[in-house]
Amino acid sequence: MSTFSAPKGTYDLIPPDSSVFLAVREAISTPLKRAGYGYIETPGFEAVELFARGVGESTDIVTKEMYTLTTKGGDELALRPEGTASVLRAALEANLHKLGNLPVKLWYSGSYYRYERPQKGRYRHFSQVGAEALGTEDPALDAELIILAFDAYRSLGLRNFRLLLNSLGDKECRPVYRAALQEFLRALDLDEETRRRVEINPLRVLDDKREAVQKQLVGAPMMRDHLCEACKSYHEQVRELLTAAGVAFEDDPKLVRGLDYYTRTTFEFVHDGLGSQSAVGGGGRYDGLSEMIGGPALPSVGWALGVDRTVLALKAEGIELELPAHTDVFAVPLGEEARRALFSLVTELRRQGVATDFAYGGKGLKNAMKSANRSGARFAVVAGERDLAEGTVQLKDLESGEQSAVALDALVDTVRERLSDSPST
Ligand code: ATP
Ligand code: MG
Repeated sequence: MSTFSAPKGTYDLIPPDSSVFLAVREAISTPLKRAGYGYIETPGFEAVELFARGVGESTDIVTKEMYTLTTKGGDELALRPEGTASVLRAALEANLHKLGNLPVKLWYSGSYYRYERPQKGRYRHFSQVGAEALGTEDPALDAELIILAFDAYRSLGLRNFRLLLNSLGDKECRPVYRAALQEFLRALDLDEETRRRVEINPLRVLDDKREAVQKQLVGAPMMRDHLCEACKSYHEQVRELLTAAGVAFEDDPKLVRGLDYYTRTTFEFVHDGLGSQSAVGGGGRYDGLSEMIGGPALPSVGWALGVDRTVLALKAEGIELELPAHTDVFAVPLGEEARRALFSLVTELRRQGVATDFAYGGKGLKNAMKSANRSGARFAVVAGERDLAEGTVQLKDLESGEQSAVALDALVDTVRERLSDSPST
């Protein structure tokens, strides 16, 4: 233990658990790559104003959760609390939307920062993989993204998750609904902060987790009863496409999500084994966001899935991912001369694509074989001066215990053959 520990609300990813994180990121991004999404990476910080305008002044993210800083040059920056505003900012800056090939489909993966009260599944530094499809209004695009997220979770073996679905309407029907909801909410017995929220963003009051608030919301007007014909038909098409793809969903008329920029399709994936931090991912359509950050009208849809909570969901379901062994061959030299010869062999094996490790530190045979077994390698290559004088090494199959002499210059081919005959698990 050193004098320092990881900052509150953060944790380190350490082997072997870290490989599960990599596998989850890979599992989420694989379906996206197959569906024409290109990788985008943006800075870890942006102008505070981008999030204030893009995420919304009244959201928890902007009012309470942002890590902001003033640079020595006087710029007001924030560590990114989410990905969508940055991705849209970058796409507009690079004029991707003007290249005449809409939608612009992008995916990303990285660290996000929110000053939250740390608890299981809620951290101050966390990891998301996200996807955005910019510039097209088409229910099939909303359905595509939801299906890709669903397939990603399924490919990890997850079963106990549910998809909640809602429509938040558009600039035609939402204002009318908003006014009706406000009228209802103003008559309730609410604390001062919530009353303020009623005036700024009344939809978010529906999302209030407190029992005392939820009790009073019985009979509140619901967006789904106020959708205009265009929104109703759009939503119906999304639902039909999901059903056709075998993606089960639950209509959740109260699902509004934390961000201000959502329109029409809104969804959240929840996992039933995670306690109160049950949301593993979510997203929706954000047709107005581009204009909010000074861009042209650019109807878009996207999602972000939480990697940390997906890993917790795997644990909750007792799923052990089949991760490829990280070492195929472990080389054990006996004596100084063998050390040089085997070290060259290790380099050669690696260059030929065989994952290989070496008994460093001049260990004796017994300890070196222990390391070989611990490494998870399928084979140990053991050689002393006598073997080398004969131009051979001992190849030991660590699964069966079988051992045989193999000519040094045939070793790479022999190992590769035997590995492909019986791929290690
Ligand atoms: P919650 O309601 O749990 O606060 P959220 O609505 O703020 O979630 P989003 O902004 O939609 O979450 O982020 C998408 C996903 O990122 C979430 O579903 C979750 O899996 C993950 N996530 C968000 N905040 C955190 C956090 N503080 N720690 C770990 N994961 C998080
Ligand atoms: Mg949150």
